[in-house]
Amino acid sequence: MFPPLKRAASKALRSMPLWFWERVVPKDVIGLGYHIVSDEDLPHQVYYSYKNARQFENDVVYAKRRAVGYDEVARHRLGSQPLPRSRILFTFDDGFAECFHVIRPILRKHSVPGVFFVTTDFLDDRRRLFETSASLCLREVARLDPERAAHLVAALSLDRPLQAGRLASNRTLALRRLRTVRLPPLATPAQLELALWLLGFDEDGTEEIERACALFGVDLAAYARTRPLFMSSAQVRQLVAEGFTIGSHGLTHLPVHRMGRERMEQEIVASCSLVRDLSGQKRVPFAFPYGGSEIKRSVIAEILRRHEFIDLVFDTAGLRCDEPFIINRVWADPPPAQGEAGSNLSFLLRSEWAHRSAWRRKPPAEIPLGAAPVR
Ligand SMILES: [Zn+2]
Repeated sequence: MFPPLKRAASKALRSMPLWFWERVVPKDVIGLGYHIVSDEDLPHQVYYSYKNARQFENDVVYAKRRAVGYDEVARHRLGSQPLPRSRILFTFDDGFAECFHVIRPILRKHSVPGVFFVTTDFLDDRRRLFETSASLCLREVARLDPERAAHLVAALSLDRPLQAGRLASNRTLALRRLRTVRLPPLATPAQLELALWLLGFDEDGTEEIERACALFGVDLAAYARTRPLFMSSAQVRQLVAEGFTIGSHGLTHLPVHRMGRERMEQEIVASCSLVRDLSGQKRVPFAFPYGGSEIKRSVIAEILRRHEFIDLVFDTAGLRCDEPFIINRVWADPPPAQGEAGSNLSFLLRSEWAHRSAWRRKPPAEIPLGAAPVR
């Protein structure tokens, strides 16, 4: 389509009211995905914006009449229990401490259920999330005096063509992240260069980020002693006791889709087993760190067949049609535009429904009919 026409069509689709989409392209379940809710400007999470407590409560109030618990969704998707249309399932990834202190009280106040996907290595602050380390390094970059910043740019050879042995960073990735990151103000071009270097590290760039932490004097263990970054095992057990569902978000939060077939299965199964032991749940859902859209559904189906205790699998493709054992989710982290009152969920859902992938009633059958695990 001619680009201006395409833009106009896309705008028109995004402005269609929600009731239109619900009638024309109905969904059984709408998964909402959050990471953090906080009233604070958190220095350890600058990779994306997030809602404050009031904004999140507005979402909960907006959705609560349609809110549904995980078990009902699983019984519907994997069994035969009927479910009214457009049920909303709240989910939270990574297991940040704010899940317990900020999100949980709001959900309880409104009697709304939810699923908390925890990365098992992060529980009790045993290990760190890549973005947490990178965020604190970015904060240090913003604090550097201009001379020191220029010295580091030269020492890291960031002002010269890439040389063998230098820790490479992906410029395209950095520029893409630069559009969404909540970067502290940077005073000099050298600071921007250092920030771009950090933003260009892949999520599995453990060596790079450790070197950067040493370089910028970031001591994550010391930082975590001043405030817990992630939930404790005891808090997770309390969430279960209060009726919430716990899912796995991997052992390490490394991108599962970049692992080989065997390692991917080990990561999924081992982390789900740990969550099963910790929570006492018979069945455990799994959510892909960084999404799993690139993973063949037949591969996931095979893993689920072999390990029956792993339940539904959660992905990140908005309202995309998928296999019955996959729940895609709409990212609900972005706060409403400045000056906008109330929940922005209607806007976020309409934007997702406007994608063509949300309309395909029957995705290409990659696995034989009936091959999905039966609850
Ligand atoms: Zn995550």
